[in-house]
Amino acid sequence: MNKKYRKALIAGNWKMNMLPSEVKPFVDALKLELPKQKSCDVAICAPFVVMPALMKATGGSRIGLGAQDVSAHDKGAYTGEVSVSQLKDIGTKYVIIGHSERRQYHGESDELVNAKALKVLEAGMTPIICVGESLDQRERGLTLAHIEYQVKAALYGMSEEMIRRCVIAYEPIWAIGTGKTATAEQAEEICGHVRAVIRKISTARTARSTTILYGGSMNAGNAAELLSKDDIDGGLIGGASLKSADFAKIIAATAQ
Ligand code: PEP
Repeated sequence: MNKKYRKALIAGNWKMNMLPSEVKPFVDALKLELPKQKSCDVAICAPFVVMPALMKATGGSRIGLGAQDVSAHDKGAYTGEVSVSQLKDIGTKYVIIGHSERRQYHGESDELVNAKALKVLEAGMTPIICVGESLDQRERGLTLAHIEYQVKAALYGMSEEMIRRCVIAYEPIWAIGTGKTATAEQAEEICGHVRAVIRKISTARTARSTTILYGGSMNAGNAAELLSKDDIDGGLIGGASLKSADFAKIIAATAQ
């Protein structure tokens, strides 16, 4: 992390876990375990139906409310979708866009990721845009080209100011939920590459100030090493965000 230029962020991705009734006991425990020193921003991205309970339980705390997806449409006849204005209205700060599970199971394209990110920015919220290569792409030496394409496509049409308000999460698909973490060197290489791509399509200042996260089996044991790397400004945490003590330890690791 380079805190001189960027704000560190630890964001939990609860995926399709946690009942509304389970939120308060979880958050009460997390609040007790959170370090006093505020060395990073903290967010939890919950399923839509769980978000009101999370908002209530986290009220007045440093934990920001996050969603895991949003519609690219403003309002109207889109059954099952949730709009940016609906998310904004309940106090949402962060929205995960283009998670590999949405790209894989719901066919989300790079164009759709870009459209959703623009909507989130217009509404004054922070998109956490996910990019990452598959194992096959890594083995065929396509990682750098794939990441460059995904970053360029996601940030298409954005001004410098808009890019700076985005968070990019580098999440190698082979490391998500598998227990296989990228080594700190692998993660740093690609997070640095994301920054270089931003420098290419925008300015050095924008690249320096954009927050870039690593995600993929980050946990209480490996967080400190990953977060010691200059271009890794925090983490997007799946499994370990469901255990309050582990999540609090990852947050504490940003104090190094
Ligand atoms: C994720 O889904 O964004 C993620 C990083 O999951 P996990 O930490 O469980 O690998």
